[in-house]
Amino acid sequence: MSKTKTDHNDFADDRDLYSGLIRLHVLHHAVQEPIFGLGMVEELARHGYRISPGTLYPLLHGLEEKGYLRAVELRNGKSRRKVYRATPLGRSALRAAGGKVRELFRELMEGK
Ligand SMILES: [Zn+2]
Repeated sequence: MSKTKTDHNDFADDRDLYSGLIRLHVLHHAVQEPIFGLGMVEELARHGYRISPGTLYPLLHGLEEKGYLRAVELRNGKSRRKVYRATPLGRSALRAAGGKVRELFRELMEGK
């Protein structure tokens, strides 16, 4: 039986639709500054994407494996934190995706 739900506020239901947007969002921030897992979970929550660390970490690893992100371990006294930065490949992939997003945005928002 198909769902007749028309209210799509439930992010979990539509996660597949957003997965690319989330990756682009992560990449965008990794171009701006070093990012770390929990900080990114909070940042995405701010934008209405409820994503758990258990989902985000594999996503970060995936972007790293693709060569879009590079992980660096930072030490602060005894604590260590793994941060990610965009690689040159990640930057150029984001630039290319930006053109596509702009096009989609125009169609969605301006009906062009
Ligand atoms: Zn953001």
